[in-house]
Amino acid sequence: MSGIERSVDDLGRIVLPIKYRKRLGICSNDKVIVDVDRGVITISPMKGVCALCGEAIQSESRVRLCRACIDKVKKS
Ligand SMILES: [Zn+2]
Repeated sequence: MSGIERSVDDLGRIVLPIKYRKRLGICSNDKVIVDVDRGVITISPMKGVCALCGEAIQSESRVRLCRACIDKVKKS
């Protein structure tokens, strides 16, 4: 298994390794999205919110819409 070992403190916090923060452009007080899928926790930088519904989006694309709103627009 690759990765950097970290300890979880009493409040469930971990420190994100500086090299990962730099690589992803995560700065102090930035919001991130924490998710879990099949036993794996992911932490992703939040890039903005959907212009229509306000849902958090992670896309680097110029389109500021979430996947659900893109699908709605395509159907209409
Ligand atoms: Zn949306």
